[in-house]
Amino acid sequence: MIIHVNRLRRGDDGRMTFSLKEDMEGLDYRGERLDFESPVAVNGSIERDGDLLYVTGEVRTEVVLQCSRCLRTIRHPLRTGFSQQYSEAGPGEEVLPVKGDSIDLREPVMESILLELPVKVLCSEECKGLCPICGADRNVEECGCSINEIDPRMQQLKRLLEQ
Ligand SMILES: [Zn+2]
Ligand SMILES: [Zn+2]
Repeated sequence: MIIHVNRLRRGDDGRMTFSLKEDMEGLDYRGERLDFESPVAVNGSIERDGDLLYVTGEVRTEVVLQCSRCLRTIRHPLRTGFSQQYSEAGPGEEVLPVKGDSIDLREPVMESILLELPVKVLCSEECKGLCPICGADRNVEECGCSINEIDPRMQQLKRLLEQ
């Protein structure tokens, strides 16, 4: 996710726009795997102010997520944005370095994607999920388990209570 900013150095009006699309490697996030279903597209602009470059961008991609109910994988379209400062004077608090004549957008782009990930997704609003007793996907098969069936230990307790 490298952008060459030498055009800014010659700096006509100190502003440039960019547009890039890149395949991103999946990553491990909070113990789970996050994979991309389509390239990550970033459109944005860069404005120079002295040593500082102000970058804002819009990010679009599709990620692979698991349905929270039935665990099947789904493509989830994602749209987000970021703003990030870069400095020729090197990194600082909240500021990333300009390296040579280029900046790397990977960090703010990935951050914006992770922030936008939903906590819960469903393959469909009507997803019936997995049977809590036998684990069958109830969207696919009727396993016939009775949902009222309870834990054997609870059953003993129930019997005791009924005596
Ligand atoms: Zn589902
Ligand atoms: Zn079942």
